[in-house]
Amino acid sequence: MIEVKELSKRFEGRVVLDGISAAFGPGEVVALVGPSGGGKSTLLRCLNGLESFDAGTVRVGGDVLEAGGARGEQVWNIRRRVGFVFQQWHLFAHRTALGNVMEAPVYVKGLGRDEARERGRALLAKVGLSHRQDAYPSELSGGEQQRVAIARALAMEPEALLLDEPTSALDPERVGELVDLLSRLRADGLTLVVVTHEMRFARELASRMLVLHGGRIIEEGPPARVLDSPHHERTRAFLGLDR
Ligand code: ADP
Ligand code: MG
Repeated sequence: MIEVKELSKRFEGRVVLDGISAAFGPGEVVALVGPSGGGKSTLLRCLNGLESFDAGTVRVGGDVLEAGGARGEQVWNIRRRVGFVFQQWHLFAHRTALGNVMEAPVYVKGLGRDEARERGRALLAKVGLSHRQDAYPSELSGGEQQRVAIARALAMEPEALLLDEPTSALDPERVGELVDLLSRLRADGLTLVVVTHEMRFARELASRMLVLHGGRIIEEGPPARVLDSPHHERTRAFLGLDR
């Protein structure tokens, strides 16, 4: 679904991604973990063209992003196919929950308002927020705002969804609900790539775990294997297993 080859990126001369190659298959759920500053957010942003890069390629189906190449149309295609849920959600403050979910289908896809409203209602139902469709973001809890952000991303009918630290602003008791919701999306065949520092969340949700350190993938495998018997000493250190 998404294929990354030899992806490299620098910020101000400093290497942040160092020749990353990885593939994310249809319906696969991949957890991206590793120490802070390891490049997780940057990699996620490169996957849907939010960030440019210095070498390598990102391919989503027939659409390809290349380093410093012409970007316009390919970026738009890839952003439609690969949705992004930001850490701070970035909802439109002056639109209701339903208005937020309708926005992109109407203005980007040119869908009629009635159809967009029907689809928006169905998506809010899917994320368990039918009863909050007329609420404004400021009237919603953090967890509810996140669900609106997820519904809004789904409104573009993406094939994959990228989530950056989706548990970071949730109370612990809300994390299980997020696992349930994302598991339902996975069952629909959506590819999910999730940056997280919550290992229990990663273990419950993901089928594969990638450990990013210093801009490289130093380890990958099923979460249970990586977490219970990490091969790389840096993974051990990151998990606090060294003593
Ligand atoms: P992670 O999400 O794993 O914590 P990031 O991808 O956010 O890591 O950051 C990787 C490195 O890139 C860090 O050293 C960070 O300071 C740097 N970085 C991220 N964004 C920028 C930016 N816009 N300008 C300069 N440096 C950046
Ligand atoms: Mg980050």
